[in-house]
Amino acid sequence: MSAQTRKCVQPRDDLRALEGYHSPQVDVAVRLNTNESPYPPPQEFVARYVAALGAVGWNRYPDRGASDLRVALGAFLGQPPGRLLCANGSNEVLQTLLLTYGGAGRRALMFEPTYALHAQIARTTATEIITGERSADYAIDVDGAAELMRRTEPSVVFVCSPNNPTGTVESRETVEQLLAVASETGSLLIVDEAYGEFAPWSAIELVDDPRPLVVVRTYSKVWSLAAVRLGFAVAPTWVIDELEKVLLPYTLSVPTQIAGTVALEFRTEMEQRVAALVEERGRLFTALSQMPGLDVVPSGANFVLVRVAGDAHELWERLLSRGVLVRDFSSWPRVEGCLRITVGTPAENDAFLAALGVALPEVVA
Ligand code: PMP
Repeated sequence: MSAQTRKCVQPRDDLRALEGYHSPQVDVAVRLNTNESPYPPPQEFVARYVAALGAVGWNRYPDRGASDLRVALGAFLGQPPGRLLCANGSNEVLQTLLLTYGGAGRRALMFEPTYALHAQIARTTATEIITGERSADYAIDVDGAAELMRRTEPSVVFVCSPNNPTGTVESRETVEQLLAVASETGSLLIVDEAYGEFAPWSAIELVDDPRPLVVVRTYSKVWSLAAVRLGFAVAPTWVIDELEKVLLPYTLSVPTQIAGTVALEFRTEMEQRVAALVEERGRLFTALSQMPGLDVVPSGANFVLVRVAGDAHELWERLLSRGVLVRDFSSWPRVEGCLRITVGTPAENDAFLAALGVALPEVVA
């Protein structure tokens, strides 16, 4: 074929402008940028997991329905296994939801600023994005949201609670009101509770067969298993049935299913880690609130967002040069001038506060 006739395959037109996911993975001493657990799972978990791997039939595909995991997780959550869908991280759960209920000619409503992957997955699934604004305290304004839902009739409405990157927890009343509107407008309400265990309440208690409500959770945070990639949805059986048709067969490996099941045997340890992080979040919040030049957003998650009265990107760089990596949101719309700090171990938080104590006065006007 001559050079003139050679054609180069192109991605879909609507994907060309896509930027992809940017979160630098820098190897530094104190990593407080991706909201992971600073604690590994218990040694006893690792021992039991490795022992269970010894009995795996490696030549066979996994149980497609992840039955053992769903039975154990259902018992843990007080939900029937038929209301659970497990996938490789909650990102894959969210993608499956949009592949099923989004797509060309459909709309997804999200309230910015929020988790960037909601918009990213909407784009990759050719779902039109409707953007709702939050009030000044970053909470969802229910009346505005209801009006937007009635006007645009989205197939999917995302509520991230606690919200990433602000940490804002929506009240039960807000979720119930949005759910009532979703029933009117034929929408599916997706509550992303990746940080749900750090918050005072969970929308899982509202999941019921007639309601168009899905709650999405992950093993990446409180279960200290970000490396495994496991997330799940709690949803009415009629939603799970549809999602199962779309999820790739055998997508969840046997090691992943085993990790998820064995982890649940260590509930007490998980709850202790959550309690320790909530306490540290309180300590960080108090310390940050007392620093001149910072405005701290109340958080129900394992991170805290601060607005810097000065050059926040410069502050991010100065912290990095002192071996502390936080997340730079300084150029993001609606969180301009903000940094997000994951709650670490007491020693990591002390290192962060010490670095901040030096760097902050250098950048605050
Ligand atoms: N939802 C939110 C709000 C998140 O912040 C994250 C992780 N950054 C995820 C979902 C994805 O988590 P994972 O895919 O690790 O389960």
